[in-house]
Amino acid sequence: MKIHEYQAKELFKQYGIKVPESVLCEKKEDIEQIIKNFSVPCVIKAQVHSGARGKAGGVKIAKDYQNALKYADEILGMELVSSQAGAKKVNKILIEQAVDIDKELYLSLTFDRANEAISLIISSNGGMDIEETAKTSPEKIYTELIKDNFNPLETVKKIGFNDSINGQIINIINSLYTLAKEKDALLVEINPLVVTKQGEVIALDAKINFDDNALFRHDDILALKDEAEENPYELQAQKDGLNYIKLDGTIGCMVNGAGLAMATMDIIRLAGKNAANFLDVGGGASSEKIEKAFKLLISDKNLEAVFINIFGGILRCDFLAQGVKNAIQSLNINIPVIVRMEGTNKQEGADILNHSGLKFTVVNDLNEAIEVIKKI
Ligand code: ADP
Ligand code: MG
Repeated sequence: MKIHEYQAKELFKQYGIKVPESVLCEKKEDIEQIIKNFSVPCVIKAQVHSGARGKAGGVKIAKDYQNALKYADEILGMELVSSQAGAKKVNKILIEQAVDIDKELYLSLTFDRANEAISLIISSNGGMDIEETAKTSPEKIYTELIKDNFNPLETVKKIGFNDSINGQIINIINSLYTLAKEKDALLVEINPLVVTKQGEVIALDAKINFDDNALFRHDDILALKDEAEENPYELQAQKDGLNYIKLDGTIGCMVNGAGLAMATMDIIRLAGKNAANFLDVGGGASSEKIEKAFKLLISDKNLEAVFINIFGGILRCDFLAQGVKNAIQSLNINIPVIVRMEGTNKQEGADILNHSGLKFTVVNDLNEAIEVIKKI
């Protein structure tokens, strides 16, 4: 789960990391009052779940009140099109004190699964062009695993600042590490972390991604979820208890079991098409859950066809067939629905579909499924 910059900065403050003063604004009618009570120069920052906002016109420095009002009015409500997240409506802006920047650094902690450790990435070449630095001067970016023999001072010395600044950076690394551990973050990124002209080290940007599978033990983090930023299909799926991920293809798929879902996506690819989603209805799904899952699938307007690939173990094939039949009866569907079922009550399931008076293509095996999908 992602959160906004302003929320991440609140967390940073709790962990003792310095951030500039700021106020959040969500309504056009509040802009004037907030800016009147704020100091200039200030920075107006679009709050959307995306990086690269600066390059997309979502971060603007205002030298005086007039400009601050103008930029706030422009950015709040704008459609921000960034290279990272496509088009997003800006529903909130952060009005933040402008900092006198001497140097922009990059600092992040990511979870390195292969090494079972948190990994630190640091560079003195931070800021909006960090991707460019990664391409053209990768030697300016240091990556270090935080394991038993990790010595932050040795790493920080490589980027060449004085003792006072190095000390502040090390404190920030320690705080970020505690934050990542305590809150189960998969990524904590500060870009830029700046050294000010006054020699202070301050986080000007803040990005945190949390481990969805650990959210059950962090009600405080879950409360930060902004539903407007979530994919509406995925949000609905979470409410229905389904494992659903939206993809870009045109063949909707409904499968039970994550492994079979992956294999099904491969089959669709072999047939020359792409999956429109990943959907695992789980082992013990009821007819009602199947019906909900099918309705969710079909709400995707890009679909050319639906492929249902179910292994009837705990989920019996007749339950599946009944759920799909109910869903199709209550919806107006005019795309092909291909069904492959195997396992418990396969024949009963096929009978329900074949006698439903609805149009299904029931296939016997995966090769037959490929042949049918190829012809779509
Ligand atoms: P993004 O990474 O989405 O482009 P940032 O928050 O990193 O957004 O802002 C982009 C750039 O704007 C920063 O690299 C920095 O140069 C400048 N900036 C951001 N916040 C401030 C601030 N409070 N004071 C001065 N400059 C800022
Ligand atoms: Mg940034």
